[in-house]
Amino acid sequence: MGVPGKLATTSELSDDQIDLDQIEPVGLFGVRPYWKDGHNTGIYGLSLLRAICPCDECAAARAAR
Ligand SMILES: [Zn+2]
Repeated sequence: MGVPGKLATTSELSDDQIDLDQIEPVGLFGVRPYWKDGHNTGIYGLSLLRAICPCDECAAARAAR
């Protein structure tokens, strides 16, 4: 299970910790991923995900601003 602050002292993650199980919407602004190891302690804003998305569509949208 996820432990707050654990990533700060972790150098490697297991396959279960980075394998996505499901994802649910949080309000109109974000999503909460559920990982295969059972942790679900993060909420990711849609604007952040767009800002860091490597796809061509998002890169073009960023360049147009
Ligand atoms: Zn994208």
